[in-house]
Amino acid sequence: MEAPPSTNKLQQQEFTLASVTDLSSSSSPSPSSAVATFSCVNEVTELRFQESESAHGFTFDLSSTQLFKLGPLQFICVSDNSDSVKEDAFSRGVVLKFSDEKESKVFSDSFEEWTKDAARKGSSLPNGTVSDGKSKFDDKIEAASAKMYFHYYGQLLHQQNMLQDYVRTGTYHAAVMENRSDFAGRVVVDVGAGSGILSMFAALAGAKHVYAVEASEMADYARKLIAGNPLLAERITVIKGKIEDIELPEKADVLISEPMGTLLVNERMLETYVIARDRFLSPNGKMFPTVGRIHMAPFSDELLFMEMANKALFWQQQNYYGVDLTPLYASAHQGYFSQPVVDAFDPRLLVAPPMFHVIDFTQMKEEQFYEIDVPLKFTASVCGRVHGLACWFDVLFDGSTVQRWFTTAPGAPTTHWYQIRCVLSQPIHVMAGQELTGRLHLVAHSAQSYTINLTLSAKMWGPGANQGGILQTSSCKLDLKEPYYRMSQPQVYPVAQETPAQPQDIQIQSDDLEELELLQQNANAQL
Ligand code: SAH
Repeated sequence: MEAPPSTNKLQQQEFTLASVTDLSSSSSPSPSSAVATFSCVNEVTELRFQESESAHGFTFDLSSTQLFKLGPLQFICVSDNSDSVKEDAFSRGVVLKFSDEKESKVFSDSFEEWTKDAARKGSSLPNGTVSDGKSKFDDKIEAASAKMYFHYYGQLLHQQNMLQDYVRTGTYHAAVMENRSDFAGRVVVDVGAGSGILSMFAALAGAKHVYAVEASEMADYARKLIAGNPLLAERITVIKGKIEDIELPEKADVLISEPMGTLLVNERMLETYVIARDRFLSPNGKMFPTVGRIHMAPFSDELLFMEMANKALFWQQQNYYGVDLTPLYASAHQGYFSQPVVDAFDPRLLVAPPMFHVIDFTQMKEEQFYEIDVPLKFTASVCGRVHGLACWFDVLFDGSTVQRWFTTAPGAPTTHWYQIRCVLSQPIHVMAGQELTGRLHLVAHSAQSYTINLTLSAKMWGPGANQGGILQTSSCKLDLKEPYYRMSQPQVYPVAQETPAQPQDIQIQSDDLEELELLQQNANAQL
């Protein structure tokens, strides 16, 4: 959201006063007639009083001036910031008298209008203009959410959790090191630097200078960690603040960031990433990562479905210590099915080859993240009950030397993102060859996440299918901010340690699987 555009410039206005008496002046106790002029000079909105019979005049800065009505024709006007204040550091007040009640009324209305204009412009300070104090980030994210979010990332344990995701960190390391030519001698900005790890990778790859921008308290730890690596520290500057608010002394050749959340877009940090692009990246600069893709496929998982339905069964009791719980059964059931499930699942649960939706970080406008609409179309490869939509993402590091994909796909080495599943409370029956259509509609909300609206429909199948009718439809609405982390549950499906056997026509994008598996084995050894 942009700050509201300022309204048309006010035209200079003059008022004739019967008299103006300077309250602080002992030298001119006798009031004299005067002219009051509202105007805007050098972006400063002011009110000037000029006595008619003398050269005596003074100016009030309207950003710090108040008007008090003493009667229908009389006012006191007080300013903390008149030109006299600069000399003697006292407030200045004048008594204004009008001879005409109408003129007096128009003057007080104008005063209100001009002071509002002054407040909107922001008062001028010696070192620049004060903004209204709200940034692009604060405009769209509620303060309570931001506070919790940055508190979370300010803790070392959570940064450690990401560092210990060796699939993730190892892929970033590889993507930087095998594309040294993109970093050597270049200016880099690390967008949301956290512990500073990616800044140090960039410095290791020969960056000329890295600006590590981090909004949370983690910035102080990053400084400490970087200082402990003196060969890198001389080329890294940690800046504590939000990307949306800070200024940098130069443009960047490369942006590096790890802004991905569950379903790619959770946390709404991709918006910060593209804001960094627009604010700091030179026209032909590179972005690591460059592109992201959300992958989607219908799945069948009777066990998961039963597990979720069973949770709500608690509220079916009619005699819970003598109390009937059933009035809340429907709400509880709906509550469980509004939670996206986060866990690692066996890709053999997919009932159709996946499709994907591309998000190009180099092109996407910030506002385009506010609402993401994905039309769905699948062809079932097996018969069964579809329980919902499974989603995961990958990102591409489009380096000049090596293009490397990082995937969170089922069957690939597990990452701390796992995969996410949107479960329908009404499953859909499909036959092999049957077409499933639908829509995944994501709407951003101010708690740094999204409302997910999913609809899946099974089209007619077999003879008459070309008539295109819909047989069954099922919808659900979920809050991406409130996932059900199923990882604490006993794992029914073994996390794949080798390329899983997949239905022939279901292709899981996972480049360099062997290397990632090695990294995963390391990860497991550490956990
Ligand atoms: N780059 C680190 C941390 C990634 S987590 C790593 O790869 O290990 C994302 C980090 O971005 C968090 O530390 C979070 O506090 C920071 N962040 C999120 N939004 C930000 C913003 N608008 N401005 C600056 N930092 C932000």
